[in-house]
Amino acid sequence: MDIAANIAQIQKRIIAVCQNCGRDPGEVRLVAVSKKKPAKDIEAAIDVGQTLLGESYVQECAAKIDEVRADAEWHFIGALQSNKVKYLRGKVAMIHSVDRFSLAEMINRQWSKNDACVDILIQVNLGEEESKSGTTASELIDLVRQVAQLKHVRIKGLMALPPWVADPEEVRPYFRQLRELAEQIAALELSNVTMQELSMGMSHDYEVAIEEGATLVRIGTAIFGAR
Ligand SMILES: *Cc1c(COP(=O)(O)O)cnc(C)c1O
Repeated sequence: MDIAANIAQIQKRIIAVCQNCGRDPGEVRLVAVSKKKPAKDIEAAIDVGQTLLGESYVQECAAKIDEVRADAEWHFIGALQSNKVKYLRGKVAMIHSVDRFSLAEMINRQWSKNDACVDILIQVNLGEEESKSGTTASELIDLVRQVAQLKHVRIKGLMALPPWVADPEEVRPYFRQLRELAEQIAALELSNVTMQELSMGMSHDYEVAIEEGATLVRIGTAIFGAR
């Protein structure tokens, strides 16, 4: 795997897609998803300036943050049990996968111990798939209003992990729906809530996600190879 070349290639594609759809490439950040990959692969990415990293498993995430020496910004993107939030406290800059109030409360409680505040995204289960985490679109606004009351979390936007389909064009309606939900919430002008981030798009569909407004694309396989 030529990690440096893969990152360069993706960054080029991000710029090209932005230019084609009239977006500023500076609005789109690449989250390199390093789950199940060793620290040396992560360091290879950091060496070429890819300092934004995403992890999906709590203990693995916490261990790698300690192991990787170089400065990086870590985002937690995976399913999260409340009793494991403590392992992430103070280590991650953003949690993409907040899908229920009890989890937000636990994050709030843990970050309050550091007298700090963490950025979070609300994960929406757009396909309403049984197997996936995420709040439903209909419950989203209530959840956002509740979470907005917590002092040690800041809602920065929405995240989705749509159903996997071979043809990325088929995912476009889900990406569009996520953007529309974010627009609805932004229009409410709730305090402690901004909708500046849309975390959507993975290795096989990030180009479509960018066309629909993604600001954080979470890419693993296309950078680090198959897991
Ligand atoms: C693993 C993972 C990704 C990256 O998927 P790839 O297809 O390898 O790019 C993105 N988002 C989440 C939530 C993941 O768990």
